[in-house]
Order: sequence, then C-alpha cells, then structure tokens
Amino acid sequence: MEARLEGDVLVIGGGLAGGVAALRAAELGCRVLLCTSGEPATAWAQGGVVFRGPGDPESLVADILKAGCDLNNEAAVRLVAERGPTLVREWLLERFGVPFDQGPDGAHELVLEAAHSSHRILHAKDSSGAAVQRALDARIAAEPRIRRFHGHLVDLLVTNRHDVRPARAYAASHVAGAYIFDPKSGGVRPVLAKSVVLATGGYSRLYLHATGPASSRGDGIAAAHRAGARTQHLEYVQFHPTALFTKEGPRRLLTEALRGAGARLLDDSGKEFVDALAPRDVVARAIHEEMLRSGTSHVWLDLRSIPKLRSHFPWVCGKLAEHGFDPERDLVPVVPAAHYTLGGVWTDLEARTSLPGLFAAGEVACTGLHGANRLASTSLLEALVFGERAGESASRAALEELDFEALPWRPETGRLDPALLQQDWQILRQTLWNYVGLVRSPRRLARAERLLVELRSEIESFYNRTALSEELVSLRHAVIVANLVLYAALRNPRSLGVHYLRPDEASE
Ligand SMILES: Cc1cc2nc3c(=O)[nH]c(=O)nc-3n(C[C@H](O)[C@H](O)[C@H](O)COP(=O)(O)OP(=O)(O)OC[C@H]3O[C@@H](n4cnc5c(N)ncnc54)[C@H](O)[C@@H]3O)c2cc1C
Repeated sequence: MEARLEGDVLVIGGGLAGGVAALRAAELGCRVLLCTSGEPATAWAQGGVVFRGPGDPESLVADILKAGCDLNNEAAVRLVAERGPTLVREWLLERFGVPFDQGPDGAHELVLEAAHSSHRILHAKDSSGAAVQRALDARIAAEPRIRRFHGHLVDLLVTNRHDVRPARAYAASHVAGAYIFDPKSGGVRPVLAKSVVLATGGYSRLYLHATGPASSRGDGIAAAHRAGARTQHLEYVQFHPTALFTKEGPRRLLTEALRGAGARLLDDSGKEFVDALAPRDVVARAIHEEMLRSGTSHVWLDLRSIPKLRSHFPWVCGKLAEHGFDPERDLVPVVPAAHYTLGGVWTDLEARTSLPGLFAAGEVACTGLHGANRLASTSLLEALVFGERAGESASRAALEELDFEALPWRPETGRLDPALLQQDWQILRQTLWNYVGLVRSPRRLARAERLLVELRSEIESFYNRTALSEELVSLRHAVIVANLVLYAALRNPRSLGVHYLRPDEASE
C-alpha cells in the first residue's frame, strides 16, 4: 500500500453521481482520485431515466411536486426538470452512447411509469442501470486524469481536527481528504485532496429487507455527520411493495410494471387481500400489515396470467429462474423492501454541503428534489444533474491551496469476534424494520430509541479496540445513520408521504 495518495479532487463513490462528478472534474483539468467499494445501486436500476415528454418541463415539475406532497425544494425540482433532459442527451446518449431501446423508426422509445402523466422514460429493457453503469465505467477507464482505486471510506479529514500541528485546531474547518481503509493490506491511509465529493449512495440496506446492493449502507452520511455536516429528511424512506423473498441474499426488486400488467397479491390461503393497482405506499403497508396479522414471512405474487411474460420481463424471469421459480407455473414469495432513501447530506443547488471543501451528489445527498416521496425514475436524473454540478464546484474549490498535514491513522489490534458483528447488524436491521419502518408509532419509536442508543455505545467501544474490516467500518457508520433516522422520525410528528405515523392503540 502506498503510504499516501494525493489529488486535486477526491470522489468517493463510482455510481452515476460519482462517475459523472469525476469525469466533469477531469474535463476541467483536475487530477481526480476515485474511490469505490462494492457494487453501485446505479447498476441495479431497472426502470430507466426520465427524458422528455409533452408539456415538459412544466408537466414534469407538476408530477414531481405531486409525488413529493409539495414538501419539495421547488428550485431543485425546476433545475432538474429544465436542465435534466439536456444532460441526458449530452452525457448518456452522446458521450456514453447508452443503448436505450428504440422503436421501429429508430427513435428512442419513451415509456410511461407509475405516477408520470406522460411517456417520458428512456429504458434499456428492464435493466437500464446496468447499461448506464457499463458505459460510465468504460468512459472512466479511458480518462487518464482519473485514478480509480478500491478502498472503503472510514472518516473525512478535516483541517482543524486531523492536522499533525496542534495549533491548527484554531483554523477554519475545511474538508481535505479522507481516511480510507484498504481491504488488501488491512491498513488505513490518509488520501489528501483539496476538495471531496461524496457520492456513496443511500442507506436502504440498513433495513432487514432492502432492494439495493450491499454498498447502500449510508457510509457517506455517517462520515459527513461526524465531520460536522448538516443532514436532512432522513426519516423519509421509500419502500417498494414487491421484492423477491428468499432465505439468503438481497431482495431483488420485482418491478411495479408487473402489477400494471395483471399480477395479483395473494395471502397464504390464496385470497387476494389488496388491490394490486393501489398506490405503491398503500400496497406496501397492506402487505406489511398482512404479514404481521398472519405471522408469515412473505405474501405471494401471482404472475401466471400476464400475457407475454417472458418477452416483456426477461430480467425478472431470469432472476426468478436463478432462484428456482417458474413464474408461469409458481406463485412467487414477496416482501416489501426499503428501496430509496430520500434523506441525506444537505446540499444547495451547486452540490455544496454545509462544510467548506465537501460536496455531495446522488442518493447520499438531500437536495429537496423528492420532498416526502420520490417520483419513479427521477433518481438517476438527479444523480446526473447534481453529479455534474458537484464535479464543477469541487474543481473550483480545488483551485485554492490547502495548508494541511494529516495525522497518520493509529491502528487498533484487537481481534474481531464475528458473532458480535453478525448480531449487531441483525439488531440494527430488525429494529429499523419493525420500529422505524413502513408504519411508525410513538411506542415503536420509543422502543427503537432504547435499543439503538445502547447499540451505538456498544459498537463505539468495540470499534475503538478492534482491527478494522469493511464490515466493521460500515457497522460503525450504520449505527450512526440508524440513530439519525430514528431522531429525524421522532422529531417529525406529521405523517406525510413515506413517513407514515399512526397513533398507539390502547391495547398495545
Ligand atoms: C433495484 C433498484 C432499482 C432502481 N431503479 C431505478 C430506476 O429505474 N430509475 C431511477 O432513476 N432510479 C432507480 N433506482 C435508484 C437509483 O438506482 C439510485 O438512486 C442511484 O443509482 C444512486 O446513484 P448514486 O451514484 O448516488 O449511488 P450508487 O450508484 O449507489 O453508488 C454508490 C457508490 O458509492 C460507493 N461506496 C459506498 N460506500 C462506500 C465506502 N464506504 N467507501 C467507498 N465507496 C463507497 C459504492 O461502491 C458505489 O460505487 C433503483 C434502485 C434500486 C436499488
């Protein structure tokens, strides 16, 4: 491991937001370090990305505000609706050449998705994100100013806290890089940069059931919070009604288009218990309540009557086959799952956080675009718009010289007990799922507070004595984010969008 790594801009996260930020900063002449750890959610996106429909941008603005229950930051909505389509053309179509589906006339096919008022979504079959990520990775690999490396964010470096010179404690706070864990060597090194872009994705995987990859654990939010950055709207977590339930592994999302095409939701006795075409949140809560009522671990999705199932949903059918299901014959076990996290590190329209030197874009950030609920297929668009802005803002910030000498990391040597690690993850995920999940109540939140505060102090003391691994670093991040989500929920007594509160029942 090189003792020290240095660049103009450090980008942490290589999904669409981080990738575009890195490419933009490199285009503007910066030496960029791009740090990634694990698969990005971008590669898992199925539906597609908003492009342009009749009546846009006004009609798109109206749809986003309606979905977000008017809690949105209207300036962010306008920016994304007005600038987004141009960037989709410039980046995704022209620079990356993403092979989105075309109609017989060679024009790009635009499809309709839930809660959109017109056909405006570009897609590549039912695995649009994989096509975007492949094209993005190829562009990054061809850019000589970007140095990509595998590493895991431990903490952000802040000038007044991590300088070897004690007198620098009185200097103004400025983010100047990060401590990065190298899984190969097991060591942590300071990576120095004049500005940092956080693009580490969301925190859906802090929930027992989640549709995202393992990297969606909120690491960037925890690190930003510890460094002193403002966070916002962390209580707003969007749950997808139908994810494949299997004993092991991630909960693969089964697209809502299946219900639009005729799929039905059945309880254990084979009875339809909810109108499958009801809004997403209503369906998700109905499934959750049915599972609690019947004590089952899942409900059933019936795809058997969908016409042309295999040709319209090849990715879904392939994934089901991998898990041994023939959807033309079998009922498919499903659960709701945390899908998209609306809250994050607060940023302005230039992707600036409240900390000088720190920028954020994509799902890790909260621009206010989504308000209290997200309109389908707008998150890739948000990652693109704010990824580009973050690259530009971070490049401007990198013009200034920083007077900073990083303290070396002090390694711990204690041995990791895997039983503690497993159990702590289990408690955290179960607690968020049951008490700070789809349906919240004062009593559930109070119980979560007792459990999560104790878990946090346990993990902090454990972490301070133990040699690091990616799992342990992320567990420390996770318990911080879990507490932030909990306190955001406790502070917000108003049910709105995906933050759903109901009063305690007398007999509870
Ligand atoms: C199943 C699924 C389907 C979806 N479908 C759609 C869709 O159709 N349309 C749409 O618009 N959106 C969709 N979304 C949401 C969308 O995919 C995400 O919101 C978006 O891709 C987030 O992009 P990002 O760049 O912010 O983060 P990500 O793409 O998640 O990238 C995060 C990056 O951060 C890195 N990272 C994380 N932690 C660390 C760490 N500690 N150290 C270093 N690096 C780290 C990861 O390695 C990764 O490179 C879907 C999401 C899921 C899960």
